[in-house]
Amino acid sequence: MITTTCDICKKKMDDPINERTFFRYAETSICEPCKDNLEQNIRTQIRGKDPFTMEWYEKTLKDSCTKACQKGKV
Ligand SMILES: [Zn+2]
Repeated sequence: MITTTCDICKKKMDDPINERTFFRYAETSICEPCKDNLEQNIRTQIRGKDPFTMEWYEKTLKDSCTKACQKGKV
C-alpha cells in the first residue's frame, strides 16, 4: 500500500489517486480538503483581479500552496 502525506495538514492518505484524492502543486502533495481551501482563498482574490490570466492563477495557486505548507494550514 502506498501512503502519501499531505504537505499542508500532514494527514496521511492511503493509496492516493492523483488528481482525485490528492493533488500536486509546486513539488508538494496536498489532500482534497486542503486543495478546496486553497481554491476558496484564491476565488476571493480572483474577484478583484483584472485582467485575470491563467498564468496569474497558477502562480497564485503555487504561492498559496507554498505558504500553506510552511504554516501547516491553509
Ligand atoms: Zn491536507
